[in-house]
Amino acid sequence: MAVIGDDALRLDGNALAGALQQVFAVEATSVSGRCAGCGRVAELGAQHLYRYPHAPGAVLRCSACDGVLLVLVELPDGYRVNLQGLSWLVAGPGSAAASA
Ligand SMILES: [Zn+2]
Repeated sequence: MAVIGDDALRLDGNALAGALQQVFAVEATSVSGRCAGCGRVAELGAQHLYRYPHAPGAVLRCSACDGVLLVLVELPDGYRVNLQGLSWLVAGPGSAAASA
């Protein structure tokens, strides 16, 4: 039996371009995510946003457990987004049906 090595299966990350384009080409607030703390799945737009006037960014918290889902900081060269509080996101074609 022939064994296929990791080198033969590994692709350049650019091979994900089409899938990532589908994921990120959506209305972001309608994307559903699973809270890593309590497991609740809900649209990002339904969560609690904390954005103070002089803060460099924003914090999105779970409306069920108040855990931090997402931190977004705006810097001169772009945004930094930490999604550590989300187990996963549902986005792209058919995502509304998948998260219902
Ligand atoms: Zn939660």
